[in-house]
Formats: sequence, structure tokens, C-alpha cells
Amino acid sequence: MYLNLPSLQYSYEDLEPYFDKLTMNIHHTKHHQTYINNANNIIKNLPELHNLSIENILNKLPKIKEKQRIPLINNIGGHLNHSIFWKGLTNKKTFLKGELKKYIKINFGNEKIFKKLFEKISMNHFGSGWTWLIKKDKKLFIKSIFNQNNPLMGEKISGTYGYPILCLDLWEHAYYLKYQNRRLDYINAFWNIVNWEEAEKRFNKI
Ligand code: MN
Repeated sequence: MYLNLPSLQYSYEDLEPYFDKLTMNIHHTKHHQTYINNANNIIKNLPELHNLSIENILNKLPKIKEKQRIPLINNIGGHLNHSIFWKGLTNKKTFLKGELKKYIKINFGNEKIFKKLFEKISMNHFGSGWTWLIKKDKKLFIKSIFNQNNPLMGEKISGTYGYPILCLDLWEHAYYLKYQNRRLDYINAFWNIVNWEEAEKRFNKI
């Protein structure tokens, strides 16, 4: 109606053996679609949000009554986060390079140290949420954020603010069918299918 499920640039089986076909299918067509359906149902009753981009809806969040604001944050966040996540994955081999590589080196030391820190933060996150690589004022940092909150939602909601470069879904629905409790195996699998070209594009965008 207002928000639509984005199509993927790969098939559900293309990310095998790292992300399995069944999980990808359920994750995209059921989990992501449900966030969209719920968000659309809320937006339907808020005419001031009709025809706005997601970014503009986020800007209007403080003006929305709490009863609608919280479910809207959860569901529009679910839509936005998954949209960024899908584009950040690929079955093609891509490499960390260019300005993003340079800034990862400046901020973390090197790619290996960066990945270890990303893994550590992902492992230490208790409960549902996402790990984010975030850009703010030409600086990069990693932060895990609860539920479906997004760094673009700002300090008050997400505990931080910045532009998302790369993200990893830490909800169990993202990995439980294949990896069960082995979150670290899921994180390690993720590195094989990261779309570094997309991350670099996002880094150079702002
Ligand atoms: Mn998810």
C-alpha cells in the first residue's frame, strides 16, 4: 500500500551454504513482509505520513502519539533494517577497498581487527537487535542496537546517531534454522557474503 517488499538482487538459494534457502525465503517473505504490513496499517491512520519517504517519516516520529509511535518505530524499523541488510549481501565476490578500506584502517587498525570487534559486539549483544557499522562525521564505529531501531532514528531511540554502512541481523529468526544457538558460526558465514561494493557506496554517499 505505502511500503512494498523490495525484491532481492539474488535468489534465496544463491547465498548457500552461508545463508540457507529456507531461512532466506521465510526471512524475506514472512518476517520482512509482516513488518511492512504492520507499518502500512499504522501509516493508513496517519494521513500526515502518507506519501513520505522512510527518512521523512523518521523525522516526524517525535510528533506522533506514543501509542502509535512505538509500533511504528518497530515496524518501519523492521522494514528499513531488512532493506539495508538485503542490499548488503551478495553471492558475488566483493572486496573491501577504496575510501571505506582506508577509513576502516584509520578507525580500527585493519580489516581483521575490524571483523573481530564486529564479531565481539555481535556476540555480546543480549537478545534481539542488529550490529551496525555506522558513519558519523567521517568517523566509523560499530554498535549493536536493540530490536528494530536504526541509527538514523537518533540518540533518543537508538542510543546513537549516524549513517548505516553495513548491518547484521541478530534476531534468532535470521539464523536459528541453520545455526541454532551458534551465533558465531552465523557471523563468520556473513563475512563470505558481505556486499562490500554496497557498503562502499553507502560510505561515499554522505
Ligand atoms: Mn530479520
